[in-house]
Amino acid sequence: MHDLVIVGAGPAGMTAAIYAQRYGIQATLVDPSPGGVMVSNSCIENYPGLFKKSGHEIAAAMQEQARELGAKFIKDKVTEIHKIPEGFKLTLAGSPLIQTRTIIIATGLSKRQFTAKNSERFTGNGNGIHTSINDLKSFTDLEVAVVGGGDATAIVAVTLARVAKAVHIICRTPELTVKPRNLDKLRAEPKIHPILDQTVAECTGSDRLEAVKLSNGQTLPVQALVVETGYEPRLTFQAPGLNLKTDPEGYLQVDDGMATSEPGIFAAGDLTTGSNREHHIVNAVSEGAISSSSAKAFLRQKLSEPLRGSDTSPFF
Ligand SMILES: Cc1cc2nc3c(=O)[nH]c(=O)nc-3n(C[C@H](O)[C@H](O)[C@H](O)COP(=O)(O)OP(=O)(O)OC[C@H]3O[C@@H](n4cnc5c(N)ncnc54)[C@H](O)[C@@H]3O)c2cc1C
Repeated sequence: MHDLVIVGAGPAGMTAAIYAQRYGIQATLVDPSPGGVMVSNSCIENYPGLFKKSGHEIAAAMQEQARELGAKFIKDKVTEIHKIPEGFKLTLAGSPLIQTRTIIIATGLSKRQFTAKNSERFTGNGNGIHTSINDLKSFTDLEVAVVGGGDATAIVAVTLARVAKAVHIICRTPELTVKPRNLDKLRAEPKIHPILDQTVAECTGSDRLEAVKLSNGQTLPVQALVVETGYEPRLTFQAPGLNLKTDPEGYLQVDDGMATSEPGIFAAGDLTTGSNREHHIVNAVSEGAISSSSAKAFLRQKLSEPLRGSDTSPFF
């Protein structure tokens, strides 16, 4: 029986693990692809103290810190969570199930579905349609389309331009909705070509993606397409029998201590109603730290014994 399982190893989950380890709680993180969505950004400018580091660098440093402090990582996806008398049982896609007394949910936001004709044929397995650019090298020398029009699209396009032959942004509105700073970065990159007021009508190719057909009938040859059509709050696992309340938009409701409506389950990061719905790394790490402190208090009450760790000082 684990004391604490953290579902999702983005900045929220990894910070929760760092704080849990320091409280003397063994933290186990489950994530098929640790690091979270910040790894798509090659230059992060708003995380205090780490100006212009890449998301990869920050994620790698967090992971190393969590490991060094004793946190365990399981590279897998949680598919189901059930209640059991002692706590919870988690089903994983490819590993044995695990039981735990407490859980922190830190699964972030989910990408909106991309539903162009034939898109399902080329999604995943290296067939051309990607939902992340974690494996940046795999885009080397390719013609890539990025579908979307917001800041995340701009950041992904700029990151891809470091390795790709050309990056075509396909945006359904007549203008991109990006901050001036990101617009400047797009304009400064000659490999990036915005195609405005268009959608992807169809994806074509034999085994792998070879081209996309646009809504104006034009065919654009590309070997890869990255979906950046926005994010939504959505649970990425089944939770039958759990009382996890969400707000009308789907964000997990939490109190000031990041406790959900299900006793023993806490949540942190982009998926929660916390931090005024600000979705930044700094908010995610803050919520991660708070959620661990609440899990500690819950465990202490449940186990009726003190946990080891540096929790006697108000500062450490
Ligand atoms: C392109 C882009 C650029 C950004 N740039 C910045 C920036 O410059 N500055 C800034 O402050 N913020 C930036 N952000 C926002 C920031 O990255 C997020 O606010 C932050 O990553 C949220 O952290 P999180 O831990 O809540 O979720 P995430 O980072 O989304 O991590 C969630 C993790 O949960 C895992 N997961 C999901 N479902 C399951 C499951 N069922 N089982 C196991 N694991 C699961 C995922 O694999 C993922 O690793 C950017 C976001 C994007 C998309």
